[in-house]
Amino acid sequence: LAAPATVLPALRGAVTGLPSYVPGRRSAGADIAALASNESHYEPLPAAITAVAEAAGKMNRYPDMAAVELRERIARHLGVTPNEVAVGPGSVGVLQQIITGLCDAGDEVIFAWRSFEAYPILVELAGARPVRIPLDHLEGHDLSAMAAAVTERTKVILLCTPNNPTGVPISHDRIEAFLRAVRSDILVVIDEAYVEYAEAGSGPDSLALYRQYPNVCILRTFSKAYGLAGLRVGYALAAPAIAEGLRRTALPFAVSALAQKAAVASLDAGEEMAERVAAVKQERVRIAAELEAQGWKLQPSQGNFLWIRADEVLLATLVEAFNVAGIMVRAYQGDGVRITVADPTSNDRVLRLLEAHAA
Ligand code: PMP
Repeated sequence: LAAPATVLPALRGAVTGLPSYVPGRRSAGADIAALASNESHYEPLPAAITAVAEAAGKMNRYPDMAAVELRERIARHLGVTPNEVAVGPGSVGVLQQIITGLCDAGDEVIFAWRSFEAYPILVELAGARPVRIPLDHLEGHDLSAMAAAVTERTKVILLCTPNNPTGVPISHDRIEAFLRAVRSDILVVIDEAYVEYAEAGSGPDSLALYRQYPNVCILRTFSKAYGLAGLRVGYALAAPAIAEGLRRTALPFAVSALAQKAAVASLDAGEEMAERVAAVKQERVRIAAELEAQGWKLQPSQGNFLWIRADEVLLATLVEAFNVAGIMVRAYQGDGVRITVADPTSNDRVLRLLEAHAA
């Protein structure tokens, strides 16, 4: 008999060195306010629930791998053709397809920091190099520094608007100037996970930019405003040759039949979604104004969340206070805390808590 193995198979260095994605803790009880993950606090749209129930009866079958119906529905929603659309298991899944589809080992991906924490993970997993460009003093993207960071190894640039976690959008004109300044063989991804929550005109008219600059790729999700975070479906809009490449890099059948049907039904229920979004935006305005009156200095957020920059001491105090109060928020070591805007009762709890810690 062979001796038991003492050396285990090794994971790649790129994997063992990965920064970890720490999700918000799951809600554990009735009194817990789940404000850590920028989810919609509404139950799924009734039409989405019906669509999922219908699709569930056929889940012994694989989903449509080409997601034809969903891609057609997204295309109609955006006024483009289905061959410009690629879907994936959440926009994070599509983003992985983008990075693995475009980057060889050692290639560079530029993004602002702080931004969505999955960016460096996906880049490093692909063996590419993350290039983090610090946010400017207004918590927004420093586009001149990002343009200056381009090298011949740059393959992809990620722009997040409104930016997670700061909520700050990038204006249309600034992105357009940036697109004129960078090489057209670099894919510029505009991650618009929170676009539905942004006031018209605060961020870019990304579709217009996409039509003018074929190296633009728009990334969107059903996880936030559409309330389907648990189903995992997102999409990219890109030049047909790129969208086709993204579809090839996808895992077969990555988007479930339930998710495909629910996403179509959610787009059909656009007006209901818009009413919910309007209510969240109203709450965002209300609590931002109250926090300002309490003495907090915040940059205006265009997402369904607020960002409080905090030094180490303040952050530790806030984390402790939120924990004790049963309010789950997202703390970012060394930077600050992000709080999802939800229903008025939860938002009021946040206001009461922060009042006690205002400057
Ligand atoms: N982009 C940004 C900026 C995000 O904040 C998130 C979710 N936190 C995503 C993409 C990914 O969302 P999903 O994979 O659920 O579509």
